[in-house]
Amino acid sequence: MTTLLLTHPACLEHDTGYGHPERADRLRAIGDALAAPTFKTLKREQAPLADLAAIERLHPTAYVEMVKASIPKRDHKWLDPDTVVSPGSWEAALRATGACIYAVDQVMAGNADNAFCAVRPPGHHAEPSRAMGFCLFNTVAIAALHTRAKHGAGRVAVVDFDVHHGNGTQAAFWSDKDLFYGSTHQMPLFPGTGARDETGVGNIFNAPLAPGDDGDDFRMAFEQRILPALDQFAPDLLLVSAGFDAHVRDPLAQLRLVEEDFAWVTEKLLEAAAKHCGGKLVSTLEGGYDLDALGASTAVHVETLMGAAS
Ligand SMILES: [Zn+2]
Repeated sequence: MTTLLLTHPACLEHDTGYGHPERADRLRAIGDALAAPTFKTLKREQAPLADLAAIERLHPTAYVEMVKASIPKRDHKWLDPDTVVSPGSWEAALRATGACIYAVDQVMAGNADNAFCAVRPPGHHAEPSRAMGFCLFNTVAIAALHTRAKHGAGRVAVVDFDVHHGNGTQAAFWSDKDLFYGSTHQMPLFPGTGARDETGVGNIFNAPLAPGDDGDDFRMAFEQRILPALDQFAPDLLLVSAGFDAHVRDPLAQLRLVEEDFAWVTEKLLEAAAKHCGGKLVSTLEGGYDLDALGASTAVHVETLMGAAS
């Protein structure tokens, strides 16, 4: 029993062009960090391709076909001012989504205690019918729907500590009381959603933070809002949208977290998973745009996951 690490070289081939923050070097930085001896006991596997049927539990067929048709034969095509695709983007998106689905299958089957998916493009801004914020398919939301359809899990939670609000995941879960979404994020900041009073059917828990807030504020938001709500929800599986752009070094936002804060939140989420669902937790990469901070923060996140693995 161990921690599963999923990635795929195809995720490097989603080319966003010169100067784009969501770039392939992010995964290279994570790969370098996870090459340290500490990580030699990780169970490493290549991410499979997602089935379109799994993606279409969330995204309408017309949207999936639009994304596929938008992939250029060369160069780039912009889907919105932030979101760009290249010839390699289709396979990358299917691998990123496929990683999370496969990780769910392995964790639900007991073949791994927990898992981390080092993949891109990220997912949490993708709404059912709209690509945005560097995201094409909403990986965690698709994985949540897959968990219910294929594993008989009644209740699935997503906790999102990326510095941006996961508007896409919130939109996907909005009216379904058996899907939980809890998020800390900076406000004001892209995409503009995530106020405390956005509560869905009592299943959405937003804890916005102010520019300049630090790890103490972040931990208080978890202790006071996200973790008690998660405890009450009692999930059958915990999914994590692991963005590391709340780090003090990140260029896209103004929170002041450090690596220890990511270790802390990972430990708290593992405790919640242990209490309610036998420790079943699948984490997937969202943001994080300072390469050194991203590598170091991902390393403490995965190391903490491994610490819980027996
Ligand atoms: Zn982000």
